[in-house]
Parts: sequence; C-alpha cells; structure tokens
Amino acid sequence: MPTEFQLLERLRNLRDPEVGRSLGELGMLKGAKLGDKGQATIQIELPTPAYPKRERIADAVQAALAGVPELGPVDVQFTAVVKGKNTGGSIGLKVKNVIAVGSGKGGVGKSTVATSIAFGLQSLGCKVGLMDADVYGPSVPHLVGGGGQPMAMKTQLENGEEIERMFPVEVNGLKVISIGYFIKPDQAVIWRGPLLHRAITQFLKDTEWGELDYLIIDLPPGTGDVSLTLSQLLGLAGAIVVCTPQQVALLDAVKAVAMYRQVKIPVLGMVENMTGEIFGRGGAQQKAAELGIPFLGEIPIDAGIRIRGDAGEMAKLFSEDNPSRSHLLNVCENAAMQIAKSLLETPSMPTLEIL
Ligand code: ADP
Repeated sequence: MPTEFQLLERLRNLRDPEVGRSLGELGMLKGAKLGDKGQATIQIELPTPAYPKRERIADAVQAALAGVPELGPVDVQFTAVVKGKNTGGSIGLKVKNVIAVGSGKGGVGKSTVATSIAFGLQSLGCKVGLMDADVYGPSVPHLVGGGGQPMAMKTQLENGEEIERMFPVEVNGLKVISIGYFIKPDQAVIWRGPLLHRAITQFLKDTEWGELDYLIIDLPPGTGDVSLTLSQLLGLAGAIVVCTPQQVALLDAVKAVAMYRQVKIPVLGMVENMTGEIFGRGGAQQKAAELGIPFLGEIPIDAGIRIRGDAGEMAKLFSEDNPSRSHLLNVCENAAMQIAKSLLETPSMPTLEIL
C-alpha cells in the first residue's frame, strides 16, 4: 500500500489548469488521507470558491493516481480560501478584495453588471458586499430590491469611545449600502469635491461590513473623482470596465481604462454587456486585446436581465435557471481568477532569517 506522502509526491507536479503552475508550488495540495482498505481522500484548496470547472483538477488527480498499486477508490475534496490583499487595513476594513466596477459612460449596464457580480460571487459561496458609489444615479437599492434600510447603531470601541456605525441592508445575505438609501428617489444631490470625498470615505469606514471576501463598488460613470478617492483610501484589487460592443461606446471605455491607470487602480479587465443583434458582438474583446488587458466575458442583451432589474429581483438571475446565468457566472469566475492569479503570481517576500 502507498503512503500518504507518496500520493502527495505523485500530485505535486500536476499543473493547475487556470494558473499554469504546479499544485505543489501554489500550495493547493492540502493533504492526503488513506483509509484501511486503501481508499484515498485528496484535499485540494482553491484560491476562491469562484474557481471555474474544478472537475478538471479532480480528473487530473484521478488520472495521476490511477496506476498506483493497491490503491482503492480516490475521492477528491475541495475547500476554498479566498486570497486577498487585505489592503483596507488602514481604514479598518476587513475585506480581502475590493473590486470597482466602472464604465466610460452611463447606460451601458454598469450597475446591472456590478450587482450581478455581487450576487453571482455570493451564489458561488463567497462573502460579498456591494457599495453603490454611483452618487449621480444610485440604482443599486432598486436593483437588489428587498426594501430595507441601513441601521445606525452606537457601538463601543475597545478604548471605551462610543462611535456610530452603519449596518448595511442585507438582501439574500448580500450586504448592501448606497447613497440611494439616504435620499428620496426624485431628489437630486449636487456633489462638490470635498463632500463627495467625505461621503465615500464615510461609507467605507463607518459601515459595519464585517469580514468579506469581495466588496464590489459600483462607480459613477466616466469621471475620476470617486476613483481617486478610493485609490487614496485603500489598495483596490482592481477595476472592471463595462462597455457595450459598438465602436462609439468603446472609445469611452478606452478613456475609462486610461483614467484608472492614471489613478493607479489596476484594471482587472473588460466586460462586454448587451452583446447581440442590436449592438453587435466582439468589439470589447478586440479592444481589450489592443489595450493589453484581460477580457472577462460577454453578457447577452436579454429582456430577462432588464425585467429582473426593474423588479428588484437580480438575485433570481442566479437562483433560477435562465439563459444569461452561465454568462454572468463566467464573468464572476474570470474576475475572481484574475485577482487570484495576480496574487499567486506575485512572488512572496523573501523572509529574513534572524540568527
Ligand atoms: P448604467 O449603470 O451603466 O447606467 P444600468 O445598469 O442602470 O446602466 O442599465 C441600464 C438599463 O439597461 C437598465 O434598464 C438595465 O435593466 C438594462 N440592461 C443592462 N444590461 C442589460 C442586458 N445585458 N440585457 C438587457 N438589458 C440590460
């Protein structure tokens, strides 16, 4: 009978199909257990629950162990621990990855995509928050539905000081905050620079987000004000740029990419929304290639998405079968994997030995 160590040795050099490096190198092999009848359990740790098609790893493990003498049936078990930069520490955020969703112009479906990414990642088993920072047109409260209101509560710090904390609205377990919860639907708010900066800072700092794997931020279209504030406050995992396939719309997306680069927010990639007969297809993918940024997928133009959005039932896009679900999940997986890859590819800091 083989030993557990021998099994792990056989698996160490298997290549992870997403990152392209060995399971051993990536620290994904968590253990092997042998039963008394020779049956084995192999434990694999994924860098995010949004890891796509994990059965590829299971199949490779099965194939690698197939010839081992006296080995019984092999069971491959997966766990997932989201990797993150945890860069919100200085403002007290316990969020592993902050993802901004932006667009060059309004109306391309940015808020719809941001909300979908939030519900989508959550449906895959991640802990997620959604912050609506689209101060000029906060549509997230409507899209998520639920009708709740955030609650303000006094809490005591360890040093005895009393502060007021804001508790986000929870819709299907998704934590949501938006300026839209604080203004009347028909009320227009004119935001001047310092006020905007203060509002965004307060949203991030004074909201009781708890521990999150991903915080999705729906940015206002175009302008860089909010992006600049964010990049000053914390280290974002990156920005996702949403655009529609037509050439005119793509020009604005190119400007948005340039803006993120200017404020030093890494661009995770581009999403093409409303792909189909009306606006065309493939423009964003081509533009992403030209700009040297990842393409995260296309989302079809689909009345079902609009109807769920209008009804405040975006969560149902994931809990019920529908033609757009796989496209939306594909975008979530690609975004999460872009982050995981960038973290796994960053060489760990050399450790200093103290003699
Ligand atoms: P933005 O945030 O870019 O201004 P919204 O997310 O508010 O855009 O979307 C604008 C409108 O387009 C909404 O009515 C929304 O339901 C609709 N919409 C967005 N994406 C799609 C899609 N893929 N298919 C059909 N309708 C969509």
